[in-house]
Amino acid sequence: MDLRFSEEETLIRDMAREFARNELKPNAGTWDEESRFPEDKIRSMAELGLMGVNVPESLGGAEAGPVALSLAVTEIAKGCASCAVTLSVTNMVCEVITAFGTEAQKLRYCPKITSGEYVAGAFSLSEAGAGSDPGGMKTTAVRKGDRFILNGEKMWITSGAYAGVHVVWARTGGKGAKGISCFLVEAGTPGMKPGKKENKMGLRASNTCPVLFEDCEVGEDALLGVENEGFKVAMMALDGGRIGIASQALGIGLAAQEAAVAYAKERQQFGQAIANFEAIQWMLADSETDLSAARQLTYRAAWLKGRHRPFSQEASMAKTFSTEAAWRVCDNAVQVHGGYGYVKEYEVERHYRDIRATRIYEGTNQIQRVVIARNLLCK
Ligand SMILES: Cc1cc2nc3c(=O)[nH]c(=O)nc-3n(C[C@H](O)[C@H](O)[C@H](O)COP(=O)(O)OP(=O)(O)OC[C@H]3O[C@@H](n4cnc5c(N)ncnc54)[C@H](O)[C@@H]3O)c2cc1C
Repeated sequence: MDLRFSEEETLIRDMAREFARNELKPNAGTWDEESRFPEDKIRSMAELGLMGVNVPESLGGAEAGPVALSLAVTEIAKGCASCAVTLSVTNMVCEVITAFGTEAQKLRYCPKITSGEYVAGAFSLSEAGAGSDPGGMKTTAVRKGDRFILNGEKMWITSGAYAGVHVVWARTGGKGAKGISCFLVEAGTPGMKPGKKENKMGLRASNTCPVLFEDCEVGEDALLGVENEGFKVAMMALDGGRIGIASQALGIGLAAQEAAVAYAKERQQFGQAIANFEAIQWMLADSETDLSAARQLTYRAAWLKGRHRPFSQEASMAKTFSTEAAWRVCDNAVQVHGGYGYVKEYEVERHYRDIRATRIYEGTNQIQRVVIARNLLCK
């Protein structure tokens, strides 16, 4: 693997870094406090070309590849983890339409996402009773001539109240994964509405809510991919999405470590900076090692994806390791801050809450281990 970034990857990383430093980091604490979705800043990310980093230029994307996307998500997460998950999911939605959509679907939706006309895209898979096991979903799409009628309720949908288009999975056939199809449903379609936003522990500036479907009618042209083969679409999209979450976690960990290093040099106890104590140095050293390993695994998965090589196992390993490593880093950062790490005046308190969801969504880390073990044992 060549870890030298291309000129384009470096440009995107630096641009995202500057935007995150100037526009996101100074406000992230307030958005978290107020649980406010920063719609204007999300649109600014589209203006910078960040909403279709791995999407063809002909559809308004940057066509810069998965490594560039990973770098962008990490930099944005350093400034605001909530904005990073919005960014990651929206890119995933745009990529899935690019990969499985008809020409008409691609032209209809991708430019609206990449330009920011749609502030976000949503990936509507999970339900109250079907999280780790989406094959158990109950939402139905019943065919009526050349139309489908959707009924059911999706849960935990990132940007559910803001997305211009939802990729929605519903049952069109028999039980299990084989009877599921995938649809593109525009916001405002009669019969579809977002529910009450979740009051979350962290990532409070991202929007998460249920999305309800009540006799929601869509045309046959809303079908994404082949009827009854939607489950594959979800699994392929999630492989890529997991690199996004690994990148987000890495960014949160990097922000926490930067804060911990600065605090350790500044905070005085026993007449000297706490950075002089070996106990503090070891925590910082462990965190740095964790972050470095997380970075390698994440870039490797993105690099493989960019070369159209198998990357499913690598994405699961990157997601598992990076989210757990960054969680340890955030924990160390709170510890380095002592009591000050436990109050909202210091950003590490937010990082500690934000990192927690990364081990849960886009497949819990237990499910990632199932994927890794299955690959290993079924070779
Ligand atoms: C902030 C946030 C944003 C989200 N955004 C989205 C989104 O945009 N779109 C979307 O579709 N979903 C989204 N989700 C949902 C998320 O993907 C699910 O919460 C996740 O897949 C877990 O499902 P569950 O919550 O139903 O837990 P469950 O599946 O009920 O799992 C409970 C526990 O059992 C374990 N478990 C379950 N099955 C197994 C098994 N076979 N082996 C070992 N352990 C197992 C799990 O690991 C977990 O520890 C989001 C969730 C959160 C918290």
